[in-house]
Amino acid sequence: MKYDLLLVGAGLYSGVIANKAVKSGKKVLVIERRDHIAGNMYTGKVENINVHVYGPHIFHTSDRNVWNYINQFADFNRFTNTPVARYKDEIYNLPFNMNTFSRMWGVKTPDEARAKIDEQIKAAGITEPRNLEEQAISLVGSDIYEKLIKGYTEKQWGRKCTELPAFIIKRLPVRFVYDDNYFNDPYQGIPIGGYTAIAEKMFDGAEIKLNTDYFSDRKSFDECADKIVFTGMIDEFFDYELGELEYRSLRFETEVLDKENYQGSAIVNYTEASVPYTRVIEHKHFEFGCSQQAVKNPKTVITHEYPATWKRGDEPYYPMNDEKNNSLYLEYTKLAQAKRPNVIFGGRLGKYKYLDMDKVIIEALADAERI
Ligand SMILES: Cc1cc2nc3c(=O)[nH]c(=O)nc-3n(C[C@H](O)[C@H](O)[C@H](O)COP(=O)(O)OP(=O)(O)OC[C@H]3O[C@@H](n4cnc5c(N)ncnc54)[C@H](O)[C@@H]3O)c2cc1C
Repeated sequence: MKYDLLLVGAGLYSGVIANKAVKSGKKVLVIERRDHIAGNMYTGKVENINVHVYGPHIFHTSDRNVWNYINQFADFNRFTNTPVARYKDEIYNLPFNMNTFSRMWGVKTPDEARAKIDEQIKAAGITEPRNLEEQAISLVGSDIYEKLIKGYTEKQWGRKCTELPAFIIKRLPVRFVYDDNYFNDPYQGIPIGGYTAIAEKMFDGAEIKLNTDYFSDRKSFDECADKIVFTGMIDEFFDYELGELEYRSLRFETEVLDKENYQGSAIVNYTEASVPYTRVIEHKHFEFGCSQQAVKNPKTVITHEYPATWKRGDEPYYPMNDEKNNSLYLEYTKLAQAKRPNVIFGGRLGKYKYLDMDKVIIEALADAERI
């Protein structure tokens, strides 16, 4: 064997494993089908602005160890995620908080807002929500559901809210304080200089081959290392032997504008069903508070994010974790144990679950010990 470890995919999960393995003296080969490292957290430079090429990425965590861990690789700015929702000509703050309620109903105090929501929840009379629509209404009432959740969620998932499982929005943050901070986590920010620099440091000391798909020559890749960590799609790995897992995809349209400031916020969600995109990202605002220079740049880069159905060959951004797909995934894990015990399936595609970056780090650090 030429290498101790082959990592398929150069995303965050592989980066954490590579860093540990290289430090403990292992010889590591990384192959990546794209022309860059860093996976979906990759940031590229356009007009001297860090662009989140695969969607906006905000690092946030409640885990102090994870925060300390990631801060080895970058300094973080003090970006706080405070997205705005646009419904027709109305603008609302997110997550749902006193600013949202006050704009929606003209209420001023938490008691007034609570009473309004309770009144709507009571009127709906839902005791056991059977789907996402019922779940949302039972949590926040009908106005917020209709204006801020329904259209956005249906666009995102390509299904009616009545056909989506309730658990997707079990943790809808509703706050009776004037606080627009989207996350509850005590630690959040954007790495100064972008995420790609983090990946560069993580993979330092490993051999990297870009534009290299594992499936282009799997026999020789299988033979080149004692152990393999695979962070691509587990169903593709087994040539869809048990059937296809479902994913949701996205389409990004990015443009440079001759404008200093287009929308005044890093993220604006479009919550109407008739607007085809779900959100508009203005990348320079991720730097705000850290680099006034970025905001003074006379140009700006914006991205329209469109949800898309997934078919083979498209980017599989989100696993569809419903019962059917979860049980198929379980069958694939059994197949993996039986047929390929030397392969560790990791990351959001290998494990077929949506993972934020902090969770990827926690899982990868635990798996690195095992490996
Ligand atoms: C739109 C969007 C927004 C997000 N926003 C946030 C956020 O704000 N905060 C947060 O914490 N997390 C966010 N995430 C989640 C974050 O992207 C993931 O946690 C992280 O990227 C997962 O890392 P990974 O290594 O598991 O997978 P990936 O980053 O997907 O890396 C896997 C890599 O494997 C490569 N690969 C696949 N198959 C093969 C093959 N056959 N051969 C070679 N290479 C292969 C792929 O090209 C890819 O580069 C977001 C995700 C999306 C989709």
